[in-house]
Amino acid sequence: MKTNLADIPSVERILQFPHIKECITNFGRPLVLGEIRIVLDTIRKNAEKGCEIPENDELIRQLDASLQEIENKSTRPVINATGVILHTNLGRAPLSQSAISAMQESSAGYSSLEFDILTGSRRKRTEPAEYLLKKLLGIDEALIVNNNASAVMLVLSALASNRKVVIARSQIVEIGGGFRLPDILKQSGAHLIEIGTTNQIRLTDYENGIREGGKLILRTHPSNFKIIGYTGEPKLTEICKLASSLKIPVVDDLGSGAILDTTKFGLAHEPMVQESLMAGADVVCFSGDKLLGGPQSGIIVGKKEYLGKIKKHPLARALRADKVLLSGLEATLKEYLKDKAEERIPVWKMISEKENSLKKRAEAWSEKIGFGMVISGKSTIGGGSLPEETLPTWLFSLQVKHPDAFLKKLRYSTLPILARIQNDLIVFDPRTVLEEQDEVLVSSIIKILQETRENYEKRT
Ligand SMILES: *Cc1c(COP(=O)(O)O)cnc(C)c1O
Repeated sequence: MKTNLADIPSVERILQFPHIKECITNFGRPLVLGEIRIVLDTIRKNAEKGCEIPENDELIRQLDASLQEIENKSTRPVINATGVILHTNLGRAPLSQSAISAMQESSAGYSSLEFDILTGSRRKRTEPAEYLLKKLLGIDEALIVNNNASAVMLVLSALASNRKVVIARSQIVEIGGGFRLPDILKQSGAHLIEIGTTNQIRLTDYENGIREGGKLILRTHPSNFKIIGYTGEPKLTEICKLASSLKIPVVDDLGSGAILDTTKFGLAHEPMVQESLMAGADVVCFSGDKLLGGPQSGIIVGKKEYLGKIKKHPLARALRADKVLLSGLEATLKEYLKDKAEERIPVWKMISEKENSLKKRAEAWSEKIGFGMVISGKSTIGGGSLPEETLPTWLFSLQVKHPDAFLKKLRYSTLPILARIQNDLIVFDPRTVLEEQDEVLVSSIIKILQETRENYEKRT
């Protein structure tokens, strides 16, 4: 047994091991060197306490494990079997084939991003997306920025800096990931005039807010929570009518920004971009990667008068959309214009998926795996859209002795799998699993079941 500190190999010595040279090729010298130092440090500390110094084989095994851990921590594809469609932690909307191709092309080489092929002159990078949005929504002008948080920030900075903004108490929200409306308002130099109460807002509250000096009305869609019971607020049309008579703009932050009607799929009504515009909102902003089903982006649409000011603000340049985002967004918008969104945009494909076909998929999994049961369940929209709303689905369920340990094993699969525990069962929702992932999902589950043979109880 080696316990003498002098028996610990030096960093230089370890770097000479043939296997370590291979690691350096795979991971790069800084990472390998860093991990060698950490492993040696631990060995030294343990040796000082009288622990044995491991043989070189064991040391290399430890190094391999920590290097693998770094690799596992990288952003990589996962299977989302949670049934949460717009899972923010898992990257929100998966993209359509056309968006993926467009993004691949625009990132692989040069593109006509700011160049007009026909005239040979310069153009604005958001021009094509803006044109498509005009055709789709009938607006005067549009602007695309990095995400909707920056869209809101930019709009308020351009239109309400050093001014008072009227907002209903029920809409002073936190969206998640640190997006709190009062903070955004403060940052943009706007001052808050809170009106109404948490549950009741009247048109006269808005009137009073404007009388107190309000120069802009901000409406925020309370995306991720629901107030029920004795609640009420004026219709957007009424608010816009009042505002326009007093020459004050109305900005509507819709968040998810549905362009298709969610009620068609048995869901509650999610406010649509078209409706806000129709009601008379001057500026409407929404995310590109929520219900629109495109890449992360913030979309600002509305009237020329205000969009002009917004586009000129210095923040517009700071928050500008990148070329990959823009090509993906253009491709996504084209699917809407072709009336193919429901068929080709994964978010809408998932929402509109028939219960019957979900059941068939869950049953096919169950059959191939040879264990588990197919039970009815519920999928959710997620991503701060349609809180409390669910879609009926069919789940493949497994009864195992240690559900948490099983979930961990699923996460540790080569292609990590995210599932849920429901009534002590592990459940997998086919709605959010991409069809091309079915095979890997099934084989990974089979592998884990074989490894933990004693742990499953039920056979059907
Ligand atoms: C999601 C959301 C935002 C933030 O949008 P991101 O695209 O995540 O930056 C802002 N406002 C509302 C109402 C939202 O729902």
